[in-house]
Amino acid sequence: MSRFFSSKFRDLKAYVPGEQPREMKYIKLNTNENPYPPHPDVAARVAGEAVRLNLYNDTECSELREVMAQRLGILPENLLFTNGSDEILNFAFMAFCDMNTPAVFADITYGFYSVFSQINQVPFRTVPLREDMSIRPEDYYQCGGTVFIANPNAPTGIALPKKEIIRILEENPDHVVVVDEAYIDFGGESCISLIERYRNLLVTQTFSKSRSMAGLRLGLGAACPELIRDLKTIQFSTNPYNVDRLAQAAGIACIQQDEYNAAHTREIIETRESTAAAMKKMGFSMTESSTNFLFVRHPAIEGEKLYLELKKRGILIRHFSQSRIREYNRITVGTPGQMQTLLKVTAEILEEQI
Ligand code: PMP
Repeated sequence: MSRFFSSKFRDLKAYVPGEQPREMKYIKLNTNENPYPPHPDVAARVAGEAVRLNLYNDTECSELREVMAQRLGILPENLLFTNGSDEILNFAFMAFCDMNTPAVFADITYGFYSVFSQINQVPFRTVPLREDMSIRPEDYYQCGGTVFIANPNAPTGIALPKKEIIRILEENPDHVVVVDEAYIDFGGESCISLIERYRNLLVTQTFSKSRSMAGLRLGLGAACPELIRDLKTIQFSTNPYNVDRLAQAAGIACIQQDEYNAAHTREIIETRESTAAAMKKMGFSMTESSTNFLFVRHPAIEGEKLYLELKKRGILIRHFSQSRIREYNRITVGTPGQMQTLLKVTAEILEEQI
């Protein structure tokens, strides 16, 4: 830290993303990327748009909003696109939290929430998950702050039924409830259809997971027009050009080929189920995943040890050092071939433990 770094950020602990190694070719199962590339139309449309890069992009994402609104059965004024869903989440912390309105979220959830609280200098309160790692909805009733719920949750993978989210919305009529649906296409019920009925609801989604475009950085918020206008004020006060021309073009092509994405999503769900069954046979226990990852532990090997042993053998998974989940690892569901290799190598490692 230089002596010039603002004192307000002295204690800020930045988010630590999963490793993105360059030096060795790993089977990468550590950052919940989609193992399948986007539809070829995405590349074609991006190439076509590249000739116009001399011109600023549309700050309204007009065409992308039209196409997505139609896909989701809502109106364009219900949508705001951002640079990944991380950005819309940060906007939500800026727009809907302050000294008197803390952020409220689970003790085990997406690690960025506490970082967004800190950088925006708003207080936050964490709510412990149940022993089985599920969310206890009652803990969020009249909680006196802006609620952030990843649904399905990460890294646990567990989904909360829509009726429970409705109850949380109804129990917090004077606070915004943000439902982060980064993994919703792999299981769980989306709350997007509720945005007009519950005017305190903001749903966020991403193109990074089920739509195979993590490297593009495209996310969205869906809410009633008043909430969208607040978020837009934040957008225009930070970076009006946050979704560049290439991202808008790619997003449009991606949505127009959404059946291609859906087919891959179905494949990933199948692979998840077969991998989960095989790992259970090997003695792993796990939470019930509604996502593109498994959250697993094994009685014979420590979480960190398994992570390190797999890494030595060319397979990257994600280990978290938080004490409550230290025994676990989060494993992204890749292709069937990648998962076969994971299972084979894991069996060898377990064999060595005995
Ligand atoms: N929410 C959750 C729960 C996530 O796991 C992630 C991905 N790390 C995000 C949001 C952000 O994804 P992106 O910025 O790539 O849209």
